[in-house]
Amino acid sequence: LSAHGYAYDFFYFVQQWPGSYCDTSSGCCYPSYGKPPSDFDIHGLWPNYNNGSYPSNCDPNNPFDLSKIQDLVTSLRPNWASLACPSSDSTSFWQHEWEKHGTCSETILDEHSYFQDALNLKSMTNLLSCLKSANISPNGGSYTLTSIKNAISACIGHVPWIECNKDASGRYQLYQVYICVDHSGTTLIDCPVFPTGACGSSIIFPTF
Ligand code: 5GP
Ligand code: 5GP
Ligand code: 5GP
Repeated sequence: LSAHGYAYDFFYFVQQWPGSYCDTSSGCCYPSYGKPPSDFDIHGLWPNYNNGSYPSNCDPNNPFDLSKIQDLVTSLRPNWASLACPSSDSTSFWQHEWEKHGTCSETILDEHSYFQDALNLKSMTNLLSCLKSANISPNGGSYTLTSIKNAISACIGHVPWIECNKDASGRYQLYQVYICVDHSGTTLIDCPVFPTGACGSSIIFPTF
């Protein structure tokens, strides 16, 4: 158990920019229900320890059960869309995230709360509008990492972590945004520890 007596210390709430998932050399596949909106897309809500390590696949006896989140499906489809190939209805992505990460917070969040909290967090942190209000738009342009981090920090009150990947030409681009959330899954906090990984000092924000 962590210092707080829970099985984890905090969450990374991770959102992906679909344009950056799709324009890599591996490409992407839109969901069977159509192209998702031009907006950040939930990747997952990941329990973490303050030392940077994390638990995973915590309870094989609590597998994903779509029937428990039927009321959330119309909201999950555009907001937690899977862009992996082959094209799917995204339920396999939700299953993967629940079983790998969600089961590690099941003592606090049952399956329905896990998905509901993630949807609430996405609307609480409207990343695209945060960036647009700082004149940072998904137009294929290059922006400094500092300006992107400052725009999100000013908007949500906490410093995010930016994960970059590379487009098909090998240029660093804005791929995922990590925001820290307390163990309840509802309150944004300053990150106890940041992930690692390289970005350029200026990165592309691709269209989608
Ligand atoms: P990658 O190796 O692509 O960065 O991450 C692969 C997978 O490992 C992620 O999709 C996620 O499931 C998990 N992962 C990577 N970094 C972290 C982390 O810092 N915390 C948690 N909880 N999971 C992570
Ligand atoms: P992680 O293990 O890092 O939490 O999640 C990554 C896994 O989810 C990979 O197996 C990946 O193929 C699958 N996946 C399905 N759809 C998506 C998507 O839209 N984005 C990402 N990053 N992974 C996805
Ligand atoms: P500093 O702590 O001085 O801002 O950054 C230290 C190093 O981490 C620099 O190389 C900087 O580019 C990198 N860095 C800072 N913030 C981020 C971030 O959000 N994402 C990534 N990938 N690297 C970052």
